[in-house]
Order: sequence, then structure tokens, then C-alpha cells
Amino acid sequence: MYCPFCNADDTKVVDSRLVAEGGQVRRRRECVDCSERFTTYELAELVMPRVIKSDGTREPFDEEKLRAGLQRALEKRPVSIEQIEIALSQIKHFLQVTGEREINSRIIGEEVMAQLHELDEVAYIRFASVYRSFQDLSEFQDELNRLKSKKPTMDEDQ
Ligand SMILES: [Zn+2]
Repeated sequence: MYCPFCNADDTKVVDSRLVAEGGQVRRRRECVDCSERFTTYELAELVMPRVIKSDGTREPFDEEKLRAGLQRALEKRPVSIEQIEIALSQIKHFLQVTGEREINSRIIGEEVMAQLHELDEVAYIRFASVYRSFQDLSEFQDELNRLKSKKPTMDEDQ
């Protein structure tokens, strides 16, 4: 770690503690050359793999898209937002521990189905029946978005 004051490449750690519920390490450092002190924060790097679509193109993993897909499948089902968030973090965790830099969108779709299967049978069937007829998760999402923008809400009907 270079000293931000004099650019010396030798700094020593004078204090180290866990912050953000253990998700980060805060380090107080001191430059061996100029004795200035500064703080660094360390965060374990958890990179989401890029998604390989069925046509071979790649796109960044989109958490919002995935959340919207889960919420849509679980619409009007007795499943709390918190349960959805837990399922979402489990899917993300699954993707992170693969250690892959790129992952086939089909694998993500299968994992989504596994999570839905545990959460709610109806949502699982709802998702699986529609999803299986698409090439991959992003096509499924595109279709959902299309339906969503087309369909007026109940309130507007009345
Ligand atoms: Zn320095």
C-alpha cells in the first residue's frame, strides 16, 4: 500500500478492526517514511459472473432484473419481501461461489427455479412453465417486461 502523502511504498498497520458487521476491515496505517497516518477499508471481493445468453452474447449480471422476476412469479403469493431477498442473496451466493467469471444464463434459471421450489409451489410452477419455453432467463425477462408494459393494472381497468 503506497502512502497517499509521500508515495512511499512502505506503510505499517497500527490498528485493525472489523466494521460493518464484519463485512469490512478498517485499518489504520502509518507511513514509515513521513509518519502520516491514514485509514483503509478492506472488503472481500465478491464478483458476480457475467451472464452468457443463449445466443452467446454476454451481459452483466442484473440483480434488479432477477428481483423483478422473483417478485413477478411470487405475485399475490404468501411470501414476504424478506423471503424474496433471502432467496435472491442465495442465488447470488450460489453464483459467486462457482468462482466462474462467466456463467450460462440457463444455470441461473435453474437456480431460480430451485429457490422458488422451496418458497412456493405455485410460484415455482408459474415460473417453470413460462421459463422452460424460453431459451434463457433474459429472454424470459424480456417477455415479462413486454407483458408488464402492455397490461394495464387493475386500478386502471375500473
Ligand atoms: Zn508517507
